[in-house]
Amino acid sequence: MILLALATNGWTGDINWAQHRIELSGFSEEQRQVLDKTFGEFRTIRPGDLKIERTLYLRLSRFETLFGQPLSRADLLDWVLRRFRKISYGNSRLAAINQNRGELWVGDLFFDEITPLERLYLLIHEARHSDGDGYPHVRCPKGFQFVSAGQPEITLEGELACDRTDRGAYAYQAAFLFELFAYGIVDQKAAGLIYNSSVARIVP
Ligand SMILES: [Zn+2]
Repeated sequence: MILLALATNGWTGDINWAQHRIELSGFSEEQRQVLDKTFGEFRTIRPGDLKIERTLYLRLSRFETLFGQPLSRADLLDWVLRRFRKISYGNSRLAAINQNRGELWVGDLFFDEITPLERLYLLIHEARHSDGDGYPHVRCPKGFQFVSAGQPEITLEGELACDRTDRGAYAYQAAFLFELFAYGIVDQKAAGLIYNSSVARIVP
């Protein structure tokens, strides 16, 4: 329901995976449709009016710095697609993992357990792992105060689930979520909460 606004005015066609030189492997027809719909939603993200104070937006927005374009001009679908060459179905405890710089493994969690909004920021996160040295995560520090709301069985302290860089996967995920929050493109409260929780993963 979170993406209702996108789903109703959005573009709903299929992604031409071959044209983007992306190999899909092991998915059922139903899962493939979820993938097409999820990637397709990147095309429908367009900012309207700011729904927060402009001074706050200017202070916290990092989208243009990281993605090289403001959200209004960014081709997010292309940005994500260019970073994957193969997407495979795999049963792992994670929703998705980018193992070999561009080879994305997507598991049952991605299709069955998470919201459309979570699928979107997850793809931004995984796509960033294709850049540079992959921006590998560091262990969350001792005494880390935050929990994994999405995976409550995990203890983040000591887990490879933090970044020490503000240009890594969590930074891109956060920058994307901040724009959704600022422009109220999806459920603003949900985007704001996940933004906060994403920023918490970037440790000094
Ligand atoms: Zn990651």
